[in-house]
Amino acid sequence: MSTITNEVNKRKTFAIISHPDAGKTTLTERLLLVGNLIRTAGTVKGKKSGKFATSDWMEIEKQRGISVTSSVMNFEYHDFQVNILDTPGHEDFSEDTYRTLTAVDSVVMIIDATKGIEAQTLKLFKVCRMRGIPIFTFINKLDREGREPLDLLEEIEDVLQIETYPMNWPVGMGKRFLGIFDRHGKQFVKYNGNEEETYIPYEDLEKGMHENLTTNATFDATKDEVALLDEAGNDFSLEAVLQGEQTPVFFGSALAPFGVNIFFDTFISMAPTPKPRKTTEGVMQPNNPDFSGFIFKIQANMNPAHRDRVAFLRVCSGKFDRGMSVKLARTGKTLKLAQSQQIIASTRETVEAAFAGDIIGIYDPNAYQIGDTLIEGKHQFEYDELPQFPPEVFKKVTAKNVMKSKQFKKGIEQLVQEGAIQLFRDKRTESYILGAVGELQYDVFKYRMENEYNVEVMFDTIGDRIPRWLNPEQQVDESLFDERRMLCRDRNDNYLVLFQNEFALNWFKENNPSIDLIDLFEVN
Ligand code: GDP
Repeated sequence: MSTITNEVNKRKTFAIISHPDAGKTTLTERLLLVGNLIRTAGTVKGKKSGKFATSDWMEIEKQRGISVTSSVMNFEYHDFQVNILDTPGHEDFSEDTYRTLTAVDSVVMIIDATKGIEAQTLKLFKVCRMRGIPIFTFINKLDREGREPLDLLEEIEDVLQIETYPMNWPVGMGKRFLGIFDRHGKQFVKYNGNEEETYIPYEDLEKGMHENLTTNATFDATKDEVALLDEAGNDFSLEAVLQGEQTPVFFGSALAPFGVNIFFDTFISMAPTPKPRKTTEGVMQPNNPDFSGFIFKIQANMNPAHRDRVAFLRVCSGKFDRGMSVKLARTGKTLKLAQSQQIIASTRETVEAAFAGDIIGIYDPNAYQIGDTLIEGKHQFEYDELPQFPPEVFKKVTAKNVMKSKQFKKGIEQLVQEGAIQLFRDKRTESYILGAVGELQYDVFKYRMENEYNVEVMFDTIGDRIPRWLNPEQQVDESLFDERRMLCRDRNDNYLVLFQNEFALNWFKENNPSIDLIDLFEVN
């Protein structure tokens, strides 16, 4: 096997997604412990202790104690190279979270057992489904009284429209929690109320070696439930999992901790390694000897002392060597990748080599755009365009000081190009309208306009709007639009309508049945 193939087969690149407070930070921290990246639990968490999460670096992140941008953590685990891409956990999350999903090969979805599926899980999940990303589910907080496991599985199947396969099954919960039946490993994992777990093979249970357990009524009832699952439940299919059609479900507690090791071992054994990716010239194999990759995120001023921009690149093929020359597919220009960093926690280490699945941070001399493809040698192709995600919050933006309109325009243009926020122009008034996936993007935008372009900006909310794009093939009749259904153009001069609410949208549909309205979430 070539070195490249060997390296690619070691990579497991994934993101953890969840609704805020479901336990993403706690689980991530557990995994960092497993990977020996940190030594004690409780060091990553920043909100209350005043210490900041390892992945929080921008000033604004410090001020608000949240993680604004996605960072990458990596470590070796058994024979694998694990890359975890962090996503903002705050409810005001942004497009960064969505884009991060284009750079991973699978995701771990955390669900709080006491709550079930929450708004944010659903949004992120939609994107994973759209892109066919394999999803592994960790149902967390089993140490508390939560909802019935069957009930939770049913909800996942109904709401997310995905088949579930419980890899393990809990016995009791909260104070009555005894452990889990590990259906995959054919053993019972006993919860001892501390970090130690006891692994008891099914055979030993049958031999009557653990009477205090087997005579417990909850244990006994659950054993029957598991037998029923084996008989009447869905069959496990790794193929369906890898196609994103079935999700393996694990129960546990990130805090206790319990079930984390079993989850992670099973997950790592099943999670996909980097796959071939679509390009404008066909499919590129991850073990193709020529280097290629795409930029899914650009971040400015991570270090205020340097005022630099870092582009995050997902390697898709070949071998990255520090200092190599690559071609920027969009312009055909050759660039030397002299400064490359692997972003590990708060330190940046120089990367000498990287393979498909790895994420590297490269110095951006203001040359890159989100979605850019970098390739080596003779190739000429681009990776599939990064999808545009429909914004949900819209605001008009103006400069406080009209004398600063030049910097204002420059700032907006650069930040929009960077993908920090989306820009629209009202067709009637030509005013600037910013669209974001979450409120937080406005805070970041305002902060950066002040700090990088020296312009104070003001926002005028136009409320939550529902954006629908018009079919470019159809003639636009401007007289049909007004404040409630605002006609705008996006960066690429496509027309879209910002509807005031569901009612305005439906009214318009009924009265103009011949006009196509395109929902970005439904396409792709
Ligand atoms: P995030 O917002 O998704 O990153 O969630 P955190 O990891 O910050 O967890 C939110 C809260 O839930 C914190 O107070 C955690 O201590 C708590 N938590 C996380 N995992 C568990 C768990 O397994 N059991 C219990 N009881 N609490 C948990």
